[in-house]
Amino acid sequence: MQQTSRTIIENVAVLSLDETIGELGSATITIDGGRITSIEPTAEDAATAPGHRAGDEVINGSGLLALPGFIDTHRHTWQSAIKHSYAELDPRVYFAEVLKGLGAAFQANDVYVGNKLGSYASLSAGTTTLFDWSHVQNSPEHSDGAIAGLRESGIRAVFGHGWPTSPDDSWTANSTKPHPADIRRVKDQYFADGSIEDRITLAMVLRGPEEASPDVWQHELRLARELGLRVSVHTGAYARNANAAAVQQYADARLLGPDMTFVHCNHLTDAELQLIADNGGTVSLGIHCEMNSQGVGEIPFHRMLQTGIRPSLSGDTETKCTGDMFTQMRMLWAYHRSTLTRLGPDYAAQTPPVTMRDILGYATIEGAKAIGQEAEIGSLTPGKRADIQLIDTTALNLGPIQDPAASVVLAAHEGNVRHVLVGGKFVKRNGSLVGVDTEDLMEEARRSQENLLERAGAYKAMAGV
Ligand SMILES: [Zn+2]
Repeated sequence: MQQTSRTIIENVAVLSLDETIGELGSATITIDGGRITSIEPTAEDAATAPGHRAGDEVINGSGLLALPGFIDTHRHTWQSAIKHSYAELDPRVYFAEVLKGLGAAFQANDVYVGNKLGSYASLSAGTTTLFDWSHVQNSPEHSDGAIAGLRESGIRAVFGHGWPTSPDDSWTANSTKPHPADIRRVKDQYFADGSIEDRITLAMVLRGPEEASPDVWQHELRLARELGLRVSVHTGAYARNANAAAVQQYADARLLGPDMTFVHCNHLTDAELQLIADNGGTVSLGIHCEMNSQGVGEIPFHRMLQTGIRPSLSGDTETKCTGDMFTQMRMLWAYHRSTLTRLGPDYAAQTPPVTMRDILGYATIEGAKAIGQEAEIGSLTPGKRADIQLIDTTALNLGPIQDPAASVVLAAHEGNVRHVLVGGKFVKRNGSLVGVDTEDLMEEARRSQENLLERAGAYKAMAGV
C-alpha cells in the first residue's frame, strides 16, 4: 500500500485546547492525510523518538507555539473591500448606508472579491474557519461569487446563505418575502455530497422574528431543517430588537433547537438566554463591533456564563471593526476585567471565573461547537483535522514566555503567526500566504471598492441617505 507523505512538526510547544492533551512544552505533532495522527511529548532519548520515513516533511518547531486555528462564527465577509470606512458613522445609519445603499450596489464579482480578500486576511491572522454570514444574495450569481471566493482561498468555511440587500425595507422590516428558493439550487449544485472538498459546508442565515413576519420566520427555519442545515440569526443587539422577544417566540412556537446560533444577544432577557442554554443552542459575541456600535446593548457575556453558555467569538462587519480574532479575545478579557472593577466586589463574587484558557476556548473549540464541527476541528486532537497555527514565541512582543495562553490573548497578533495549516496543508508559511499574489489581490479589491462607491450613490438615494 502506498504511504502518504506526512508533515511532522518537532520540538514545538503545544497549547492543544484538548483537555486530555493539555499543554506541552515540547512535542512532536504528526499530520497524515490532512488530520493530526499523534501529539507526543518530545522524547528525552533521541533513540526512542518516532522515526521519519522517506517523503515526510519535517518542520523544526523550536521557538514556535502550536494552537488550533481560530474559528470566527459570524463574519459579513462580503464587506471586506469596504472595511473601516464607517467607523464614525452614526450606528443607526449603518443599516441605511452600508446594508441598503452599498449592499444593493454589490455585483456578484464584488462578493467574490470581498470573500476572497476576507478569507486570505483571516488565514494570515490565524483564523482557519470562517462562518461567512452572507446577507447579500442579490442574485444566484452573488451566491456563486461568495462560494468561489471562499473556495479559492483555501480557508475552511461555512457559507451562510441569506437574503438579498435592497434599498428598501422589504426584506428586513416585518418582511413577507420568503427565504430565496435559490438555496435549494446552491445545495444541489455545491453541497450534494455534504461539502466542497471536505472544507466548505452550507448553513442558512435567518432574519427571524426581528425582521420577518411570523409566517416567514417560521417558514425559513422549517426550510433550513428540511434541508438539514444549521442556522444563525442576529438577535437582540439593539433596544428596538428587544420588543420582538425573538428567542421567546421561537420557544413558544416550539422551534428552538441545538442547530441554532444566536448572534449578539445583548438585549435578550435572562430567561431567553436560559432558553438557549436549555435547548442546546449556541451564541456568537462580536465584541469589537458590539463595543464600537453606539446603541448596541451591554455585552451579555456574564449573563451568558451564568446560564452555562460559553460563547463563540466573531469579527462581524469590518466596516467598523477588525475581523482579527486576537482582538476579539483581548477585547473580551478587557471587558470582563473592567466590568468586574466597575460593578464592584458583590458583582465579581457572583460572576463565574474566567481564565485565559477559557478566552482561547471561545475563539476555538466553542466556535467549533457553534458550527456543529467540534468532532472535527477546534482543538489539537489526534483524529481531528490539522487546522493549526504556529506562533513565533521568540518575537519581542511575546517572549520570554511564561504562560503561553496569557501571551497569546494579551499580546499576539497577525505578525506573530509564522505558519498556518488547513487540513494539513500550508496556507501561510514563514510569514507569507502561500500561492497568492497579495499585490494583485489588493489591486482587485481596490477596483471593486472604487466601482462600488461609484454605483452606490443611486442606491443610497433610493435608501434615503
Ligand atoms: Zn452581523
